[in-house]
Amino acid sequence: MDLEIITVGSRGILFHYSDVKMDSLNEPVNIYVINGKNHLFICDTHLGPDVMKEVVSYLDEQGMTSKPIIVFNSHYDPDHVFGNCFFKDELIISHSKCRSLLETKGEELLEQFEKLKKGNVEIVLPNVVFEKRISFEDEGIEFLHTPAHTEDSSSCIDYPEKILFAGDNILLEPLPYLDRSDVAEFKETLEFYKSLLLSGKIEQIVTTHTDIVTDTKQIDELLNYLENYNSFTVDISNYSFRYKLIHYNNLSEHAKQFQEKGNNQQAIDFSKAAFSMLTELEPEATEDLLKQIVAEKERIKTALSELEE
Ligand SMILES: [Zn+2]
Repeated sequence: MDLEIITVGSRGILFHYSDVKMDSLNEPVNIYVINGKNHLFICDTHLGPDVMKEVVSYLDEQGMTSKPIIVFNSHYDPDHVFGNCFFKDELIISHSKCRSLLETKGEELLEQFEKLKKGNVEIVLPNVVFEKRISFEDEGIEFLHTPAHTEDSSSCIDYPEKILFAGDNILLEPLPYLDRSDVAEFKETLEFYKSLLLSGKIEQIVTTHTDIVTDTKQIDELLNYLENYNSFTVDISNYSFRYKLIHYNNLSEHAKQFQEKGNNQQAIDFSKAAFSMLTELEPEATEDLLKQIVAEKERIKTALSELEE
């Protein structure tokens, strides 16, 4: 993992770890630190204590760690919380759902991410939770619930610096992964980010996995996708194979979720849309993938015949 330390505004420090092995791709994983007046705010804790040790020793060298540390978890995913155990005696803030999701899924995630974790990870839950927001008035810093990527996803706003930390709500890809998202909430959060940018309240959006955002282009692309998503009018004509695959995954996940909830008509509609995306994928698929596509099509056909009974 290569580390680059980038200064953002007058009191932000971005620890940019490029090429972190995550699932199938290598991607950057960032940690954002705000050197406040009376506190040192650390946004997200990467994949484990070994990384946080490196971050804190740099902050030590800069003479910043004499202030109390406040850790913030943007959501419960391993690459944002596994380093919490390095901060057992500090305040760790998150949305209440982040704490409860980590409480129920933490051990399972630890097993699942065994190979990716950095150091001896122990699940440490946030010890301060909020529902809508929590403000540090004398610092001009606020943490607030902005559900999008996941239901617990939250952001940090540094008002004097006009910088927002968005966690995974804006990712590397211009297409969101929606398997854990509520589409309406996602749109609402993106509209909120956009209004902050357009009104000039915010000038930079720092994220965990992609470059700093300074205009609305990426947000507009995401919004465009979400606006067409529920009506099955997403224009896939210029989509790469990978984007088609993400789109298929979104549709198929939602089909399953609607079926579980007994929302049959929506389950049928999303299943049919997922099925036709598979047909789109076929011509470009490798032999192995083609086998999976054939199996998936069978699974959807069976699901549809049950739903349409
Ligand atoms: Zn992440």
